[in-house]
Amino acid sequence: MQIRLILFCLLTLTACAIGSPPVQTNCAVGDVVLSLKYEEAQTVCHREGDTAFRLTVRPEAEPINPSPWYAFTVETRSPATVTVTLDYGTYKHRYRPKKQIAPGVWQPLPLGRTQIMQEGTQAQLTLALSTGQHHFAAQEMLGVTDRADWVKAYTVRHGLILREIGKSVEGRPIYGFTIGSPQPGANLVLILGGQHPPEVPGTLGLYAFLDALYAQPSTLERVLDRHVFLVVPDFNPDGVAGGHWRLNAGLIDLNRDWGPFTQPETQAVRAEMDALLTKGLKPKLLLDFHATRRTVFYTPPEGLTLKPATLVSDWIGALTEAWPGDGPDESSNHNPDLPTAKVWFAETYGAPGVTVEFSDTFDREALQVFSKLAAETLLDLFITATEGDRP
Ligand SMILES: [Zn+2]
Repeated sequence: MQIRLILFCLLTLTACAIGSPPVQTNCAVGDVVLSLKYEEAQTVCHREGDTAFRLTVRPEAEPINPSPWYAFTVETRSPATVTVTLDYGTYKHRYRPKKQIAPGVWQPLPLGRTQIMQEGTQAQLTLALSTGQHHFAAQEMLGVTDRADWVKAYTVRHGLILREIGKSVEGRPIYGFTIGSPQPGANLVLILGGQHPPEVPGTLGLYAFLDALYAQPSTLERVLDRHVFLVVPDFNPDGVAGGHWRLNAGLIDLNRDWGPFTQPETQAVRAEMDALLTKGLKPKLLLDFHATRRTVFYTPPEGLTLKPATLVSDWIGALTEAWPGDGPDESSNHNPDLPTAKVWFAETYGAPGVTVEFSDTFDREALQVFSKLAAETLLDLFITATEGDRP
């Protein structure tokens, strides 16, 4: 952290005036204190008054997808109105601030509490706080431990074997598991999540999707006669721990590494795929869960001959019919030439891959419903429409 901070100061010449006190100490002493929540985030806290703070929110590297996120705790010794200015530099405010109102439960701040300033490059939060600790974040905080706890509980609940399929650049475990027994000839469905740390709705949607697989045990049982799911729900733990906007600890966008395979995280997934293919499984579908500014399914690039040919369009059609809200949007021409997971899957295996993108602002209860419908419609298709898709 210290080396990164010094480098940041040298490179930017902005955040670190000579002789200024250590920035964290400055915010950490007093009747009202602020602490940052990500281990190595480039965000720096500056005290501007007894109850006023400024956070300079910066990415781990540039150029980068503009996803300025943050998480911090304010602790007060007596009731206070505290202002926190989020200073994004050249980037713009993106995520509506949220407050934790109970363990694991987050609520968006009322709109009137956030004032957008400087053409969106700053946002000032006005927080009326009671005595005690209060947690705030751009999206629900799902740290490395939270995510590991979720996957451990899920696999225990459903009698699945959780495995460490590899380690990240910084040595954190990458967990994976399979649903179904890998028999020769079975269809293989690869499910990925967590490539981009701030895309929390993608992870929440993935969790809801995985839960929904077990909602109708008899349906799942029929699907598992001929299908196996390989699930790797969080394979950028270093990026999550570090509060990264996009990259892993090697400062690589993992969703541009499906082809180069320079990073241990993508290599781990590919090795799992290779092992299952050696057993005679047939890749059928990739779902890669993300979040962006709208809910959209990025489908395989046009011009590729894929099998099953109509599975994805049938699925999106069924989901659109079942879902009472708008969308999802669909686009086949998103990054067709970049080494993303869906392009790699299509080109390597001749089978469709979909980047499932949830809106950053998707109402969280509605997101649960949407993901459940997504799982149910897909399982139905696996039962009714894909007989004979594979020789
Ligand atoms: Zn993403």
